[in-house]
Amino acid sequence: MSDAKYDFEIRDLRASIEGKPILKGVNLNIRLGETHALMGPNGSGKSTLANVIMGHPDYEATGGEILFRGRNILELAPEERARAGLFLAFQYPVAIPGVTAAQFLKATVDAVRGDKKPKASEFLKEVRANMDYLEMDQAFLNRFLNEGFSGGEKKRMEILQMMTLKPAMAVMDETDSGLDIDALRIVSKGVNKLAGPGLGLLVITHYERLLKHIKPDHLHVLM
Ligand code: ADP
Ligand code: MG
Repeated sequence: MSDAKYDFEIRDLRASIEGKPILKGVNLNIRLGETHALMGPNGSGKSTLANVIMGHPDYEATGGEILFRGRNILELAPEERARAGLFLAFQYPVAIPGVTAAQFLKATVDAVRGDKKPKASEFLKEVRANMDYLEMDQAFLNRFLNEGFSGGEKKRMEILQMMTLKPAMAVMDETDSGLDIDALRIVSKGVNKLAGPGLGLLVITHYERLLKHIKPDHLHVLM
């Protein structure tokens, strides 16, 4: 049993990239149902924190722990973290030529749900409804994931993935950067629809304008 008091606890986290220390003792506590904003100058380590939380292999956790529902997730592979309910919306989503958005979404949801895979028809119905909500053209389902997508379209696709996977703890790494006012409104609308008692949110942003749309309970600054 762990002594964790919060659903998600980062304790004295240290992390390096290629042997260079970036995070030097980060502490952060989040309860499900809370929205936390994380700001900080460029290069302060915000994306490093996001990637360490999700288990990106280029980022090495060298000390401390990250407890999610009492379990140290640093010991888990990224896919096990996803199954445990963690989600990361990337600052720079990658394209996967050859894999359509529909195939990708179904594969991720099947991998995360394990023996509770949704039926293809029900799954598609839900995805289409979420796309309508995000004002996305349904044609995107048959396009290769993020291939040739604009910045705003990629970020909407990240939110669509989040709506599909329904995580318990989501980290959004500058999902707002590069968005025009309209795309920012839509992305925020999606996030606010998901926000609720079952979701902990860590919203990383460089701009205060996002915080007009997504109201955080706590604001942190990484230096
Ligand atoms: P932020 O997201 O706050 O802008 P990052 O976490 O991306 O900051 O970067 C923190 C530091 O780590 C910076 O000094 C950056 O140059 C360095 N860094 C980030 N990614 C890499 C990488 N893949 N290889 C080497 N250094 C990196
Ligand atoms: Mg970053």
